[in-house]
Amino acid sequence: MENAFLGIDVGSISTKGVIIDENENILADEYIWTEGNPIEATKKLVRILEKNFDKTKYKIVGTGTTGSARKLVGSIVNATVVKNEITAHAIGTTSTHPDVRTILEIGGQDSKIILVENGIAVDYAMNTLCAAGTGAFLSSQSHRLGIPVEEMGKIALESKNPASIAARCTVFAESDLVHKLQMGHSKTDIVAGLCNSVVANYINNVGKGKKIVAPIVFQGGVSKNEGVVKAFKDALGEEVHVDKNGHLMGAIGSAILAKESTKRNEFSFDIEDVEFVTREVICGKCPNNCEIICVYRDDMLIDSWGNRCEKGEIKTGTKYKVS
Ligand code: SF4
Repeated sequence: MENAFLGIDVGSISTKGVIIDENENILADEYIWTEGNPIEATKKLVRILEKNFDKTKYKIVGTGTTGSARKLVGSIVNATVVKNEITAHAIGTTSTHPDVRTILEIGGQDSKIILVENGIAVDYAMNTLCAAGTGAFLSSQSHRLGIPVEEMGKIALESKNPASIAARCTVFAESDLVHKLQMGHSKTDIVAGLCNSVVANYINNVGKGKKIVAPIVFQGGVSKNEGVVKAFKDALGEEVHVDKNGHLMGAIGSAILAKESTKRNEFSFDIEDVEFVTREVICGKCPNNCEIICVYRDDMLIDSWGNRCEKGEIKTGTKYKVS
């Protein structure tokens, strides 16, 4: 039997999984929606990967997890490596673009920038608060215009004179879009304007103060939109590379981290029977009163989310106390 390694990236919108061999060739991969339930999404992902993977030839001897639910999923799959998204994305991207200096990422609900030097992430920034620089913004505007979101990129490329759409925030951009429609701008020019607006918002917020150096790789669901890719090229005056596996980079990076780790633990595809208890805690340390979701296994905290700052962080490994 040959060794293989599994990487899982569980985000708030999508869950991705990749199995690689010792030479980092992809043996199986899958991308599904998380639908608010990272545990169920992981079980479904593992079932699909199992079907597409040759268990008679390979055995999985190391598993890495990343993404917002990495600790929780790491516990379900008995991960040998649990790493944050920044590290996992940088490792995954440098495996196919060894000289990358800047990774731009725009996902459904958040966006980030990672600066890389000699294959190592040296700086990063994330945006989880403003929707204007994310896929959610493009998808809501595509509904408003009656255009399928997947066609926005192609339509944007047809524009000769993109409308100028305010990039500051979602509310301004939306009212500007309505105004431009009333003024008679074509939908093509408005779509191109929206793509430019997403890029301007990204550069002014996520990329603020960051030196964007080539080679540049653009990832995340929005990288499939050719209009946004062109807008980045125009705004930065540099080539912007989009990898066909860009949406899987976090999972690929996790699988590589599992391969590079000395820890070994044979993965069992049979993860259906693990029991978890979820409890909700109100932080209460400031008027935001964040609702923190805590997930326990055998009364031991294995993951939590929902706190908007470090003060609300609850340490994993904390025992559940009945109050
Ligand atoms: S997690 Fe931070 S922002 Fe949220 S209630 Fe606690 S102190 Fe306030």
